[in-house]
Amino acid sequence: MTVFKKIIDRQIPADIVFEDAECLAFRDIQPQAPTHLLVIPKREIRSLAESQPSDSALLGHLLRVAAELATRLGLDNGYRVVINTGADGGQSVDHLHLHLLGGRPLRWPPG
Ligand code: AMP
Repeated sequence: MTVFKKIIDRQIPADIVFEDAECLAFRDIQPQAPTHLLVIPKREIRSLAESQPSDSALLGHLLRVAAELATRLGLDNGYRVVINTGADGGQSVDHLHLHLLGGRPLRWPPG
C-alpha cells in the first residue's frame, strides 16, 4: 500500500486542504515552494502513464481542483502543476499525483 493510500484511508496524518468524492489535496511534507500541495485521486492509479482513456474525466477534475485551489490560496501571480511520471520523471510514490507549486518564481527548465 502506498503512503498516499494510507493518507486517503486516514491511517497516517496529512495536512488536508480539500476533499471531495473523487480526490484529496494536502500539503507536501517536503515543500519545494511556499505553497506546495499534492492533488491525488482517491482511486488508485499508479501513474499518468498507467491512466486509461476512461480516466479522462477524473484527470480533468484533478486539474480543475488544482486551479481552484491556486485561486483559493491566492497564487494570483502564477503557479506550476507538475506530474512526475516514472523513473526518469522522478516519481517516488506510485499513486498518481499533481504537484501544485507557487508563491515564488519557478525556474525553467526543471532539473
Ligand atoms: P514524486 O516525487 O513526484 O513522486 O512526489 C512525491 C511527493 O510526495 C514528494 O514531494 C514527497 O515530499 C511527498 N510525500 C511523501 N510522503 C508524504 C507524506 N506522508 N505527506 C505528504 N507528502 C508526502
